[in-house]
Amino acid sequence: MASGTDHPVDGDEWTGMASTPLLATVNFRLPVQLAEGTTPTLQDLLSATDPYGDLYPFDNAMFMPGGEGGIPGMSSENDQIIFGQGSSCDFSWDGDVIYHEFTHGVTNLIADGIWGWALDDWGAVPCGGAMNEGFSDYFPGVITDEPQMGEYSLRAFGEDKLRTLENEDVCPWYFIGEVHHDSKGWAGSLWDGMNLIADGDRDKEIEIASLFMGAESMLTVGTSFDEAAQIFVDVIQDELGQEAADLLLEGFDNHHMYMCERYFDLDDLEGREVPVLPVPAASTLNLEQGWAPAITQFRKDIPEPGVWAVQIDVPFSGNSPGLLIKHGDEHIRIDYEDGVASSDADVEAMEMEPAGNNKFRYTFEPENGINAGYLWLMVVNQGQSNARLAMPAVTLGNPKPGGGQDAGGDDSSEQKDDAGVDEAGQDEESGTEGGCGCSTAGKKHSALPWQVISTIF
Ligand SMILES: [Zn+2]
Repeated sequence: MASGTDHPVDGDEWTGMASTPLLATVNFRLPVQLAEGTTPTLQDLLSATDPYGDLYPFDNAMFMPGGEGGIPGMSSENDQIIFGQGSSCDFSWDGDVIYHEFTHGVTNLIADGIWGWALDDWGAVPCGGAMNEGFSDYFPGVITDEPQMGEYSLRAFGEDKLRTLENEDVCPWYFIGEVHHDSKGWAGSLWDGMNLIADGDRDKEIEIASLFMGAESMLTVGTSFDEAAQIFVDVIQDELGQEAADLLLEGFDNHHMYMCERYFDLDDLEGREVPVLPVPAASTLNLEQGWAPAITQFRKDIPEPGVWAVQIDVPFSGNSPGLLIKHGDEHIRIDYEDGVASSDADVEAMEMEPAGNNKFRYTFEPENGINAGYLWLMVVNQGQSNARLAMPAVTLGNPKPGGGQDAGGDDSSEQKDDAGVDEAGQDEESGTEGGCGCSTAGKKHSALPWQVISTIF
């Protein structure tokens, strides 16, 4: 492929491709110090290109743009695709991986940067990296005419490491702040949309993929999923007509990618694998100061009036969580003016009480109780570092069960048969057992502790 510094797309016009080569490095391994947990010196890093160096396998592959930076000793004016000599295979033998990294190179060339987060009134969403990886799975799928990714190189790590374009992932369930994992809905939407339109016509598939690549060239840093989906639908509508555009929208709908309502219903988590969510720091989102929102909100149903106290426990890996709370049908709307996030929440609780095991608690007892309806929650990060969040546990009840000083006055004893705390969808298993102290309102303890799932390419 070609590489160069000039942007080759000007509106709809291709202005030409630079003709410098794309370099490929194979049998790449890493300095053994990285495996031992020690910091490699520059000399150690330089030994990664030495076939006789003290190295260990690299189970991955990557695209490295040309120019300064990148891996010490390996920078080049040309773009590179780099394949690891892995612990069980050579990644350069996997055609999917080659096409995947090649597509990263194409994306780097045709789009004006696709990375980072976007902000909307639901919170922050990691669109850029997810779409970048999504393209790098989708286009190989078109080239190879099959939806599985990396069967040759990844199967040794377990079937769960394989990605497929034929997935049923829906927003927001798969967002964990890891770009490959976060890409599944976007890649699946393009794949579904293409197949719905082409209906098995291979030539049509190629035509649609070409149109998608043209649409991709219109994306830029900070383009949201909604904006990107609209661009793709518009391109298909212009070139193939309304019926095709509707089918592409159906593809996006399959994964709730368009106008996704990013919240978890805390009353509907039973038996579901719930993700651990990233909560970026304000600096990650290029916010000037103050707090930064998480990816999703949470909704808790208050089925009847007479709740006089709410206790909210938030498993949070950082040290400065905050909590936004709003009562009503509408979710919390977050705005970003002059680089500062604000909200229309009823309560902004920016001081939460540490409750042990990486858990923070906020309790509030409104003087007149809380009416039936939805309670919306958003956890925010006031710290300097990115953090992680597990499902909050919401406990409804009276502040002093059996006592005479309930905030609700005389009516309080009628609210709950046990005059105490309604665990609201929890049971003992949802407490603070286990190492990470993650508790969920839906019993299912998250399989993911704080660390990010290891996914590759
Ligand atoms: Zn990738």
